[in-house]
Amino acid sequence: MATIIPLLTDFEKKSIGERQALPEKYLGLSDVEMDVRIAAARETLGEKLVILGHHYQRDEVIRFADFTGDSFKLSRQIATRPEADYIVFCGVHFMAESADVLCHPHQQVILPDLAAGCSMSDMADPDQLATCWEELQQMGISDVAGAGKAGVVPVTYINSAASIKAFIGERGGTVCTSGNAEATLRWAFARGERILFLPDQHLGRNTAYYKLGIPLDEMVVWDPNEIFGGLEPEQVRRAKMILWKGHCSVHERFTVAQIEAVRKQHPGIRVIVHPEVPWAVVNAADDNGSTEYILKTVRNSPEGSIWAVGTEVHLVNRLANEVAPGKTVISLDQFGCLCSTMFRVSPNHLLWILEELVEGRVHNRIVVPDDQKHWNRVALDRMLSIQ
Ligand code: SF4
Repeated sequence: MATIIPLLTDFEKKSIGERQALPEKYLGLSDVEMDVRIAAARETLGEKLVILGHHYQRDEVIRFADFTGDSFKLSRQIATRPEADYIVFCGVHFMAESADVLCHPHQQVILPDLAAGCSMSDMADPDQLATCWEELQQMGISDVAGAGKAGVVPVTYINSAASIKAFIGERGGTVCTSGNAEATLRWAFARGERILFLPDQHLGRNTAYYKLGIPLDEMVVWDPNEIFGGLEPEQVRRAKMILWKGHCSVHERFTVAQIEAVRKQHPGIRVIVHPEVPWAVVNAADDNGSTEYILKTVRNSPEGSIWAVGTEVHLVNRLANEVAPGKTVISLDQFGCLCSTMFRVSPNHLLWILEELVEGRVHNRIVVPDDQKHWNRVALDRMLSIQ
């Protein structure tokens, strides 16, 4: 049974209108014409081009990707195509930034729509992080804690700006993904007394609680809009996890009530969610993990299984079609949770980018400033080394 999601929220409709304007001749094209022309441009560019497609990308775009995956998997793929001059990243801005840091000097990374950002990434601003770090020092938290350990090790989710990753890398921290978050927290606790985790409080809390057994009362939430994060020094001193007050607006839409409803409607259903959902939703679900983990778990489940999946709707729909009719997959949210910024990368934008490349013109190149590149690379290399 496929999950058909016909509706968008008002917020999503509004955001979808915010995409980067295109030349007139790339508007109003039929799906068939765009398919034919994208395929032709791709063929002309040949080995000079590699297209990366994130799992949350829409079907009309991801079908042209050479590699599909989550941020972690796609980051690893970059090294496998050194002959390509152009890396077209069908994802969001922070992913293209990481690609620019990890790619070879001759390669150019291109984001088909510059308006494709990430609301979670925007919740951590480098000035706020610098203030947070200074305030932790004033509290005496970030000093060396003894036995060679730091008072605090900073860890940022890959869903953050290049400037944040550079700051973290320079201070002995690392980047993590939802796929290696548990291993990353263990890596950080081997080096420090506590972790400053940003920007997603839910991934930090869920990983620390469910995978490492850290009690909730040993975690505090740092509000970057409050002085000293809105916390007393003693609260921060007692904490093992300092969680940045950020979240994914897509994954925060999943609720415990939705889980109760699907269990009533489909006896025997299993619920699997992404760890960007709130703690109570993970608690009520049967399983949780990264997008790659969700795909593997559902694909490997016995015939006849019924799954409700709590993550972005394009991944859920594709998985439903792939495993049907032997297994049934539905979205945990009956209206589907769509990442409206990822949705901004349209086939029209991809076509424009590729046809311009054929003419030798590069648009929408993403370049991380030189002064951020080194520490970014250090932080991302640490991420790639932690399994
Ligand atoms: S799903 Fe959430 S975290 Fe992922 S790109 Fe969209 S807004 Fe960002």
